[in-house]
Amino acid sequence: MRTQIVAGNWKMNKNLEETEALLSELSAKLPDTNAEVIVAPTFVNLASAVRHLQSSVVQVAAQNMHFEESGAFTGEISADMLLNIGVTTVILGHSERRSLFNEDDAFLAKKVQTALAKDMRIIFCFGEELEERKNNNHFAVVSSQLKNALFNLDTAQWQHLVLAYEPVWAIGTGETATPEQAQEMHAFIRKTIAEAYTPELADEVTILYGGSVKPTNAGEIFSQPDVDGGLIGGASLKCDDFIAIVQAI
Ligand code: PEP
Repeated sequence: MRTQIVAGNWKMNKNLEETEALLSELSAKLPDTNAEVIVAPTFVNLASAVRHLQSSVVQVAAQNMHFEESGAFTGEISADMLLNIGVTTVILGHSERRSLFNEDDAFLAKKVQTALAKDMRIIFCFGEELEERKNNNHFAVVSSQLKNALFNLDTAQWQHLVLAYEPVWAIGTGETATPEQAQEMHAFIRKTIAEAYTPELADEVTILYGGSVKPTNAGEIFSQPDVDGGLIGGASLKCDDFIAIVQAI
């Protein structure tokens, strides 16, 4: 049985008070679930979130990190800094990092190496843009994103990886991939991993879907056999919506 995860990416939202209020509400309302529940507040609120969730099953992830250990990298955060405050999971490769901050596969591969060297768990995001899907290039794009950033890893390192397929055209747009489109791509991802590694490894990897998941569509998407949960943006900022999505798994 693969690990199921519902993760909320809060992006650049919520100040300290708002973060603590949402975390308290979330912990209080969280139903019994077999899924791991993760939230990713902004960097400045991570330490507080870890403290706040000390006796909660809700886990904390960072939205990004740099690959260098330390030094003259103004504005950046290192793996050790995250570990030092108790954050052991990091989201890498989010489409906003790729498109707005020019993070390409080679750059992300370095971040993956650093995170793994530090024994962190990675939620690795990837997905095609609208034009690429329209041109029927989506499978090739996804396959090359995986190959370039991850296929140099050994099998043991994959134990620390969670994949998040996020078609860029569905992120924050209200446009969701249909459950069939999500399933088709998730099955393709497993096939690609099986070819590069083994069918057993492909079968073990948790693959999340992300892109305008809401309480109204989560159940259908999560019921697809190769979808193991979701990475949720907008809807993770509202406690009741996020809880409803967790309940949908
Ligand atoms: C995301 O940013 O990872 C995301 C899936 O956003 P949204 O749910 O708002 O589309």
